[in-house]
Amino acid sequence: MALLRFAVGRLKGHNESPMMEIKFHNTLTGKTEPFVPLHPAEVRAYTCGPTVHDFAHVGNFRTFVFQDILRRYLKSKGFRVVQVMNLTDVDDRIIQKAAAAGVSIREYTDKYIQAYLEDRHTLSLEPPEFVARATEHIDDMVKLIQRLTEKGFTYTSDGSIYFRISKFPAYGKLSKIDVSGIKAGARVDMDRYDKDNVRDFALWKAPKPGEHFWETPIGPGRPGWHIECSAMAMKYLGDTIDIHSGGVDLAFPHHENEIAQSEAATGKPFARYWLHAEHLLVDHEKMSKSVGNIATLRELFAEGHKPSSVRYLLASVPYRRQLNFTPDSLQSAANAVDRLRNFVSRLKSEKFPPGQSPKLSSRAGKAREDFDRGLADDLNTAVAVAAIFDLVRDVNTMIDGGEFRNGDVAPVLAALEAFDGIFAVLSDDDAEKLQAVGLTQAAPAPQDAEIEALVAERQAARKRKDFTTSDRIRDQLAQRGIIIEDTRDGGVRWKRK
Ligand SMILES: [Zn+2]
Repeated sequence: MALLRFAVGRLKGHNESPMMEIKFHNTLTGKTEPFVPLHPAEVRAYTCGPTVHDFAHVGNFRTFVFQDILRRYLKSKGFRVVQVMNLTDVDDRIIQKAAAAGVSIREYTDKYIQAYLEDRHTLSLEPPEFVARATEHIDDMVKLIQRLTEKGFTYTSDGSIYFRISKFPAYGKLSKIDVSGIKAGARVDMDRYDKDNVRDFALWKAPKPGEHFWETPIGPGRPGWHIECSAMAMKYLGDTIDIHSGGVDLAFPHHENEIAQSEAATGKPFARYWLHAEHLLVDHEKMSKSVGNIATLRELFAEGHKPSSVRYLLASVPYRRQLNFTPDSLQSAANAVDRLRNFVSRLKSEKFPPGQSPKLSSRAGKAREDFDRGLADDLNTAVAVAAIFDLVRDVNTMIDGGEFRNGDVAPVLAALEAFDGIFAVLSDDDAEKLQAVGLTQAAPAPQDAEIEALVAERQAARKRKDFTTSDRIRDQLAQRGIIIEDTRDGGVRWKRK
């Protein structure tokens, strides 16, 4: 977006308005509350990253895109963000799958870590300040378990070490589960279990025959899944962090157990704000292995969808709303991105009369305020996006009506730049991103309605003698196999190659 940079200085006036109060919905309190970080101007955030036993699917990426919107937004408000993301490269599934493949855990997970980081790049997800592999932090986990043992929160059974939840009366405060009926000493060994199975959970698991294990001061074995996040979050961010986020299905048991482990060890609050992203649905069903409706990013790209369409779709539905993911919604996302890119290109290529229209400056200011107000309200991206599309519509009307002036370009571009600082879809770099991960694709065959719209846009450009735009649209269509023929009476025909 280097081309948009020049415009920023012009809009300083609108940034001087008093800062809007930022509110987030906190799962811990069940309320939407003002966000105030522990240290002024700095936000310490922990993100539960993927378990790298397979390619991450688009449902996983909904959460990662939400976390990227969150960090970009906080940065745009002047906060320094320190984000830590873990990579779970040891858990029940990984151990099983690596053994089945006859390779080491390291070898097995390296491949999926590489793929995950590449996938992040295609979706323009900013890299967190720290990306931490669980297997490189075994010492930190062992030390945390030792602290819990010294304080009497653990017991050992058959070489495994468990967290005694009856010693931690606040257990259940995040997910609001009822623990009153739990029998003392009932245990669960699995990393993942449901609310019907609330039990003392494993911090450290004794090795099973043939399984990979670590030789440590607390005995041979491997860490449970939950302890890794507590250990790594506190190592990099301190005992109390500002924001902990993840998918809604992590709230129990994973985040509940993180709270228990961390707060039992330190006696301090672990995370002050817990933000959870809702599920992504496919035809109104949760995307999951058991339903068999999983799509990886690479499958979507292979079907002809662009990274920017996927990002836009995942970003534009507010994170606490369920998102129904369909080919139609992806196509609408692609159209929305095209509309914005074409609009930017129109602003840059068209010649406008000199001067400034008084109406425009307040219109662009209002768009930025609405955009900001949307995001400040628990990241309501739908409101933010609508603010920008309303501006685009009004500016197009002004241009068509001859009201738009040369001096109006900068404030409008500045509003779009503010939008793109968060949404990151305006750069026309989808093909490069796919090439960088070894994928090339043909653009999907355009639908009639989309072609008609582009043809009409080109006709309008020709009528106002904006041949840069009309040629660009002609090229765009040609690349996608559509040929335009201008007729002698000033009309136009199109056909597929
Ligand atoms: Zn975690």
